[in-house]
Amino acid sequence: MHQAPKWPSASTVVVGVIGNPIAHSLSPLLHQAAFEALGLDWVSLGFEVGPSALGDAVSGIRGLKIRGVSVTMPHKESVMALLDRISPLAKALGSVNCITNDSGVLEGDTTDGPGFIEALAHGADFDPMGKSCVVLGAGGAARAVAAALGVAGARDVAVVNRSPGPAARAAAIAGPAGRVGRASDALGADLVVQATSVGMAGTESAGRLVIEPELLGPGQLVVDLVYHPVTTALIDAANRRGARTMSGVGMLVHQAALAIERWTGLQAPLGAMWEAAAAAVGAG
Ligand code: NAP
Repeated sequence: MHQAPKWPSASTVVVGVIGNPIAHSLSPLLHQAAFEALGLDWVSLGFEVGPSALGDAVSGIRGLKIRGVSVTMPHKESVMALLDRISPLAKALGSVNCITNDSGVLEGDTTDGPGFIEALAHGADFDPMGKSCVVLGAGGAARAVAAALGVAGARDVAVVNRSPGPAARAAAIAGPAGRVGRASDALGADLVVQATSVGMAGTESAGRLVIEPELLGPGQLVVDLVYHPVTTALIDAANRRGARTMSGVGMLVHQAALAIERWTGLQAPLGAMWEAAAAAVGAG
């Protein structure tokens, strides 16, 4: 293994993340942990890009030969029109979170859903094939998860959301297995995924539960995509009820790992990335 140089040089390969706001993003930290473990002379930076600057920023990726960027809010949809190619999954989802620059040709892809499926396999030895799944929420994260569960062969993907319109759209994205569900669908489901923003530290909803804990129990896997805090009120309640649980750190790490693999062509160092993520979110 090579030693990664301590400082960037004129030959350092640059990647990054674009979004607004961007200061909170953990992407540069996860990318950098990977580059250091791989011994690569690469650097990852956060670029604050407002909506009116998106076109200039995408031209900059080409002009500055930036190898790739992760894309976060509010650009996941609007950036699509500015790219040369869009992967079939990103097209179906209407969302791009990863751009790869192949000699000036920019390809948009989405690694959120595939990262979630990888996290299930690595973190919980769970294969969605033939399983009944409930997705709580219908925003960007929920749609990515619902689509990925459909592609992975889930038998049933019930989308439960406060607002009915987004729920119907998310259910449709899951394909034939998708349907709009209700909270009671969580009773006996193989997998329950909490994909709303409820439970996030720093919001008044941090201690709230999105569903009644009585609906959860042994034999189920409960995943909360919220990763700050790592142990949300829902994860705590599900643990007490005897369900298996998984935090959102797994999806965070695996979606970034897939981006690293697209850009470098190398296998991502999951251990180093996990350590960096856990230290950043206080998972220990
Ligand atoms: P989003 O697009 O803004 O969607 C938010 C969702 O939460 C919507 O379905 C919304 O319902 C629902 N919601 C918000 N407040 C609610 C409340 N008080 N009660 C019930 N439902 C409520 O957000 P997102 O990008 O999908 O992100 C959702 C969460 O996933 C965030 O906490 C984010 O940090 C996390 N996330 C984690 C990862 C990871 O790698 N682990 C990746 C992406 C996102 P309505 O449609 O009714 O408004």
